[in-house]
Amino acid sequence: MNLANTLRRIALCDPQRPALYEGTRLCRTYGELAQRAARLAATLRAQGLAPGDRVLLFMRNHPAYLEAIYGCWWAGLAVVPVNAKLHLREAQWIADHAQARWAFVTGDIGTGLQVPGRCIDVDTPACEALFGGEALPLQHRAPADLAWLFYTSGTTGKPKGVMLTHRNLLTMGLTYFADVDPVDARDAIVYGPPMSHGAGLYAIPHVIAGARHVVPASGGFDPAEIFALARSLGRVSMFAAPTIVKRLVDHAQAHGLDGEGFKTIVYGGAPMYAEDIRRALRVLGPRFVQIYGQGETPMVATALSRAHLADTSHPRHAQRLASVGVAQTPVEVRVADAEGRDLPAGEVGEVLVRGDTVMAGYWRDEAATAAAVRDGWLFTGDMGSLDADGFLTLKDRSKDLVISGGSNIYPREVEEALLLAPGVAEVSVVGAPDPEWGEVIVAFVVAEPGRNVTAADLDAVCLQHIARFKRPKRYEFVESLPKNNYGKVLKTELRQRLKEQAR
Ligand code: AMP
Repeated sequence: MNLANTLRRIALCDPQRPALYEGTRLCRTYGELAQRAARLAATLRAQGLAPGDRVLLFMRNHPAYLEAIYGCWWAGLAVVPVNAKLHLREAQWIADHAQARWAFVTGDIGTGLQVPGRCIDVDTPACEALFGGEALPLQHRAPADLAWLFYTSGTTGKPKGVMLTHRNLLTMGLTYFADVDPVDARDAIVYGPPMSHGAGLYAIPHVIAGARHVVPASGGFDPAEIFALARSLGRVSMFAAPTIVKRLVDHAQAHGLDGEGFKTIVYGGAPMYAEDIRRALRVLGPRFVQIYGQGETPMVATALSRAHLADTSHPRHAQRLASVGVAQTPVEVRVADAEGRDLPAGEVGEVLVRGDTVMAGYWRDEAATAAAVRDGWLFTGDMGSLDADGFLTLKDRSKDLVISGGSNIYPREVEEALLLAPGVAEVSVVGAPDPEWGEVIVAFVVAEPGRNVTAADLDAVCLQHIARFKRPKRYEFVESLPKNNYGKVLKTELRQRLKEQAR
């Protein structure tokens, strides 16, 4: 069960099929992509790399990303894709921790990275020379063998290396067709967001289906470029965190565009507020599917399908829109109390996931593995509740819960309410230490450009939609929210700011 076999079989039966584009320029057919993967594999093995060895990828989005991933898998090696926005020192920490032997980098970010073997800039003749030899036959891998070492974003401490196996990723890939979107060879996936994360993981189903893979010429996410690519290539899908979706929708509205050329936008990775998805559906049409997962069960826990999003006449449509949908096919999802006992529908507890996508563990960290996976169940650290129909609504990560005057307040609920206020672009709600209440709710608010939002307006909206005790005690009006490299709001940093203010 080598993931690279999915590339080999398409190349065998349909070698002329277009595989890889840089912008609108076709650079590889499936036949060429497989041939290059097999040749790279031969060189890597000839230079002393052994099955199971790790190869680091520290690159901006680049056509060579897919060649490197599939070349390594072909040779039986594991890849360690690293977020291109990390500092060189952070990437070096990951290279050392993963004990990566070789690295592929783009010169803009990776020059200077130290590994015991070679550090190859993919834009140099030295890299091209690696593809020059004979092809290696596809190497056998067992289902439990390591394929991808996925480093968590490490918003709370050092990143951990999530061990994803060939079985994990093949299951994830096949599940895409069952729960997210059927794919065929005419489709195209566009790598706007970083390929080291969800966008790159979704290369797997698109290779299985023999679809087109498109790396924007800019190597990153630029809404104007993505719209232009969608219009010229057609049937384009993309994975996007909610902040990226918001930028696409803003761009479409500002330029009078619709969803022409887009097939599917899969969103996930952070909370999507009900107001935001309503607007996205209005502007870009019924092209959205939501997934909820985490590195430890990549892209697979629950999904909110296109059909559920479109079912506006359902009596519980509003709740479903604010949910993350139902368990995806290969996993069971439950909500449990602190002792791991099932909670009844409607009660909030920790979200647990079990199935073939759950990681093999954390790399070189048995204690963290034992804490995260117990009796086969992954303890996600996310809080949520299931309804009687099996829809999961996420509240917040357990560490983001605010306890004020003895009552639990989920910031997400307050954020959803504040976003209903006219002129509010973004919000983030956290708890601040308070001598009287233990913690009080503080909302960081970003207004839309040119709009003036006042605390009184926000209070009025809260009083209309949520219990009085959940209303923020204070509003901080800011220009922008601190976010990590994948677009997630850094609540830790907001809490830190409040602590410093209190000193
Ligand atoms: P990562 O491992 O970096 O992909 O982060 C996973 C975390 O992102 C999850 O544990 C959730 O807290 C959050 N997350 C992922 N998908 C969603 C979603 N659809 N809605 C809300 N939060 C999400």
